[in-house]
Amino acid sequence: MARHAQLPQRHAAKRGGTARPVAIGVAAGAIVVAVAVGLLAWAGAFAPATDAADAPAEDTAASADAASSANGSAAGDASASSEATDASSSSNGTAQAAAWPLEGVVIAVDAGHQAKGDSKQEPIGPGASETKARVTSGTTGVATGELESQVNLDVALKLRDELEARGATVVMVRTAQDVDISNSERAKIANDAGAALFIRLHCDGVDGSQSTKGFMTLEPGENAYTKGIATESQRAARIMHPVIVSETGAADRGIVERNDLSGFNWCTVPTVLFEMGCMTNPDEDRALASDAYQQKLATAIADATVAYAGAA
Ligand SMILES: [Zn+2]
Repeated sequence: MARHAQLPQRHAAKRGGTARPVAIGVAAGAIVVAVAVGLLAWAGAFAPATDAADAPAEDTAASADAASSANGSAAGDASASSEATDASSSSNGTAQAAAWPLEGVVIAVDAGHQAKGDSKQEPIGPGASETKARVTSGTTGVATGELESQVNLDVALKLRDELEARGATVVMVRTAQDVDISNSERAKIANDAGAALFIRLHCDGVDGSQSTKGFMTLEPGENAYTKGIATESQRAARIMHPVIVSETGAADRGIVERNDLSGFNWCTVPTVLFEMGCMTNPDEDRALASDAYQQKLATAIADATVAYAGAA
């Protein structure tokens, strides 16, 4: 949890930069306003989930910053925090909020699988008698030989940066290959973080079909384990999937409901799983292994997260 305390430093370093506001768009002011207003309502709804206890000073400063941007009140007390300087230098409070659309929002990110699977069993949901392997090693690129777990991690690290650039507090399930974290344990990390959304990153392998390719979103079905999160997870999937398909230009493999995934069934926070492409398709395998396409995926998923936030 020490990582949280460092986040505002990273934010502060990026605040003066020009990286993200450009992407969020100066083109359509009305849309920016709408997103900002919607977002503030959404962020408010999730406010109890934020991890304020970890870094009270920084979080308080950030909240004050967002509030003064939101209501357009006088730019406050320059001595309150270093961010006040930033706020007062912004001529437009709405633009400031739009530059940080995920301010105060906790997003958990799981890079699916790990270097080596763990075939020991765990229940597929709380209290379940049915079990599955704790975690598997995933698929392998048919052309590149790349491990799915590595591609997932590469994109997850880029996604973390993109989400943080939009103001989010990101909790990473893993940042290394050599770990042993089961699917239920991954869900619990997101639960314990009080994440507003748990994003699970995977790539697909389709037996017997090198031609199948594209981007697919998995959502939890409503079952005995997921009834508290299924509706909201499905809403996230429906908002996010088209944004990602559009931005990446990937073939659209649709949204698929799943009831058999431990990583969904153990969740008490909304969750979606992205099958980012098919490593059994040689072209898509090569793309997934490339820095450029990984970055495109990360940017698209972060933009989709903002869309979900703003659509509440
Ligand atoms: Zn996978």
